[in-house]
Amino acid sequence: MSMPIHPSRRYLREETLPTAFCPGCYNGIVMNALFQAFKEMGVEDLRDYVFVSGIGCSSWIPSPYIKADSIHTLHGRAIPVATGVKLSRPELNVVVIAGDGDLASIGGNHLLHAARRNMDLVVVMINNLVYGMTRGQLAPTTPRGMKTITTPYGNPENPFDVARLLGYTEANYVARWCVCNYIQLKNSFKEVFTRIKRGFRFIEVYAPCITYVVRREKKSPGEKLKELMRRCIPLKKYYSLLDNERGDKIPIGVYKAEDKPGFLENYRAYIRKAMEG
Ligand code: SF4
Repeated sequence: MSMPIHPSRRYLREETLPTAFCPGCYNGIVMNALFQAFKEMGVEDLRDYVFVSGIGCSSWIPSPYIKADSIHTLHGRAIPVATGVKLSRPELNVVVIAGDGDLASIGGNHLLHAARRNMDLVVVMINNLVYGMTRGQLAPTTPRGMKTITTPYGNPENPFDVARLLGYTEANYVARWCVCNYIQLKNSFKEVFTRIKRGFRFIEVYAPCITYVVRREKKSPGEKLKELMRRCIPLKKYYSLLDNERGDKIPIGVYKAEDKPGFLENYRAYIRKAMEG
């Protein structure tokens, strides 16, 4: 009698295991939530999906670990490549999975303009707060005051709040969850593949790097998760607080969820008009 396949294994490229992630890295939680979403959606295999990633630890999730077609692109260039894939194969679900260094720094302009265009992509940004793969340098998402390998006395800069920023664009869907919000994260994945299937859909996952953030704080991955559960509060509650009351709290939730036509539909209408003209 054959054993039932664990939901995670069905979508995994087994021959690439074990993963290259550090022990305890939260990337595994994100990958598992995505696979659980696929399972609950009844996805048999990922032939209707293409994954695109840049450079960084989280960019390894699609390439090589997910059993689907994937493109591992240059640093910061995942979104333009994904845009090209979507324009040439509009029937496919095109998904970008990359880190905060890749998407918010080197690829920052691509991210903003894809959101402005409401490009028909799902973009998952795993925010580990640093450049993890190159040993923990300052990123545009590093909290002010946090010590990194390049800011040993604490980060003097203000970070980008990427989800909040994209909430002001034309993107159809913007949400932020933490790795401690497994159910909400999994449900968000389902939302962007089933209920809102067009336009730019962005999910930020707050997942501090274990090796270059959490260990520096002398905490275990489990202790950090408990701390994050205390710090993560719903958006409404967070924005009802005064600045000096927010402290170390992290706002989580859905910034916007709309289902207006994405770039592809608008572009097709434009082409029709040009042809008639
Ligand atoms: Fe994960 Fe950080 Fe290790 Fe990268 S460096 S695999 S983000 S723990």
